[in-house]
Amino acid sequence: MASKRSVDVGGVQIGGGAPVVVQTMTKTETANLTATMDQIRKVADAGADLVRVAVPRDKDIEALKTIVVESPIPVIADIHFNHTLALKAIDAGAHCIRLNPGNIGGPDKVAEVAAKARAAGTPMRIGVNSGSLPKHLHELERENPVEALVTAAVEFVALMERLEFDDFKVSIKSTSVPNTIAANRLLSERIDYPLHLGITEAGTKWSGSLKSAVGLGTLLADGIGDTIRISLSTFHAEEEVKVAWEILKALKLRERGPVLIACPTCGRLQFDMDSVVTEVERRLEAYADPIEVSILGCAVNGIGEARHADFGITGAKDSAMIFSKGEPLKKVATENLVDELFAEIDRYYEAGKRVVVDEHAAAEASQWLAENEDAEAMTPERLAALEREQADREAASPVAGRRFTRA
Ligand code: SF4
Repeated sequence: MASKRSVDVGGVQIGGGAPVVVQTMTKTETANLTATMDQIRKVADAGADLVRVAVPRDKDIEALKTIVVESPIPVIADIHFNHTLALKAIDAGAHCIRLNPGNIGGPDKVAEVAAKARAAGTPMRIGVNSGSLPKHLHELERENPVEALVTAAVEFVALMERLEFDDFKVSIKSTSVPNTIAANRLLSERIDYPLHLGITEAGTKWSGSLKSAVGLGTLLADGIGDTIRISLSTFHAEEEVKVAWEILKALKLRERGPVLIACPTCGRLQFDMDSVVTEVERRLEAYADPIEVSILGCAVNGIGEARHADFGITGAKDSAMIFSKGEPLKKVATENLVDELFAEIDRYYEAGKRVVVDEHAAAEASQWLAENEDAEAMTPERLAALEREQADREAASPVAGRRFTRA
């Protein structure tokens, strides 16, 4: 169930059907104003809607007063253990306070923070971590960690409601991907507050991105989750933002910048596609429009499954081709492939998003394609298409689902 309620964090709506919000957390000492602001600008440029900063000391509060004014995106103060820092962060103008009601010193202190937040109109994120569940849930945690996480979250929600504070979102964090999925599914059935999704300590850029894509992607595909943060072991917080966007773009939940598609390559490849893909990806970062660009390693399939792409290239040893929306545009030398691709893309924007076709160049490209295409070749793409057709046929068959074994 998607959350019905919403919170407004410095003008960014979370929940209630709003687009999924991307957030990250700075890795700098917050009191180091120059370094923190530098990182905030970088994550904002990368597409973060919100940024969270750690506030473990009084000197961080001092910096926070400036950060909330200078930051191009709303700022969430991350507080643990010390409720007076939460009170001070609200006074400092934080757009949202994150705290775990379980580690802030008891219900009275939560009540004090809630009262101040209500008076200031500051929303909160209340969180539950698998590593810091309340004592009375430890036995349940051993038997059923998912139920324990959800119970803790529901108890905190009930506490906030008793305090007549309902301007909050909720997070359940676990290092386990299956537990994160199961717990958020269960929680989304029990409460209708906005949900913040994340996998705690997901890992390195590589493994952490995959874990996050599986865990958060599964939930988001179910319509669960209103804001996401990817936790990666990197000092470069903007990397977390890029991963978050790739997940949202893959699920077609939000659009930002171009979408790059590339074939997996196989033994038919005859040019350095790795370098071409890397260079195209790098240059596409300069474009804000969500155009789709496809890179095919060879022309044996023709334009094939890339015919919907706004622009595409298909390479070969010495010569290659640029195409647009399934139509050949130009034959080029492979060594100029990337430059020529971007020349066509720029021409498209200069012409007001209209593909400019040179009839002579297009005819030459069509001729090249006809010479290089091989409709009989069993490529990975065609094998996949055949397998798909067979699976469809089996699904439609009256004996679908039956299994035959040799006697
Ligand atoms: S056959 Fe397919 S996977 Fe192999 S290089 Fe050509 S386009 Fe890429």
